[in-house]
Amino acid sequence: MIKSDIKFSICHLYPDLLNLYGDRGNILALKKRCEWRGISVEIHNVGLDRKFEPDLYDLIFLGGGQDFEQSLILRDLVDVKGDEIKRCVEEGKVFLCICGGYQMMGEYYLDQSGTKMECLNAIPLHTIAGDKRLIGNVVCHSEELKSKGVDPVLVGFENHSGRTYLGEGVAPLAKIISGFGNNGEDGLEGARYKNVYCTYMHGSFLPKNPQMADILIKNALYKRYGQQFKLEILEDDFSENARYRIITCKNI
Ligand code: GLN
Repeated sequence: MIKSDIKFSICHLYPDLLNLYGDRGNILALKKRCEWRGISVEIHNVGLDRKFEPDLYDLIFLGGGQDFEQSLILRDLVDVKGDEIKRCVEEGKVFLCICGGYQMMGEYYLDQSGTKMECLNAIPLHTIAGDKRLIGNVVCHSEELKSKGVDPVLVGFENHSGRTYLGEGVAPLAKIISGFGNNGEDGLEGARYKNVYCTYMHGSFLPKNPQMADILIKNALYKRYGQQFKLEILEDDFSENARYRIITCKNI
């Protein structure tokens, strides 16, 4: 049983702008999965006007956004918060970045109008928008989850025009079984760089992949407390049903 004084602090960046397809559900999943185990959770909503104090946070979350919303936050993300975010990435802080938030961790995003958004360049990857949106349910397989002895299948929903290409030193989060993934060409989905986890999967992602949520919680608690916590097993029937429906509807 985890001691009652264990805390978990989450930073939700731009919650009012990067908020596509219920990505806030990832924050709720992390919060509840901690609280059900007696871990108290603080959530810091940090928008354009809020002070960013990364040393207070155990996990930083960036959700998805349309091209327009991405352009609205770009200057603040890169010029105001960028140096601190890159420091945190290199120091091994845990991040979860979904779709648009994922794209902006890379070098640039060339959108459909041909506008090149110079992004954070925190992770060696780049994104180029295509004319056909990549939309649908996704089923993929994570070697990392398999190596940790948990269900390696990750499921979600994607809707993006961006095609993301990983550079040197960046691993994919998973390999596609069904769906488009990063670009519909190389069979890869998402990215993993140090403790930064990126995916195109909305859904939202963590409620449908509780094993992934628990890995992020464990990684963040290890970073903060320097010890591997054994998390109590939870009843995940709802998640299992949602996963089953996605996997079977793709006739996998
Ligand atoms: N605007 C980006 C794209 O279309 C990201 C979309 C999203 O976050 N769902 O690729």
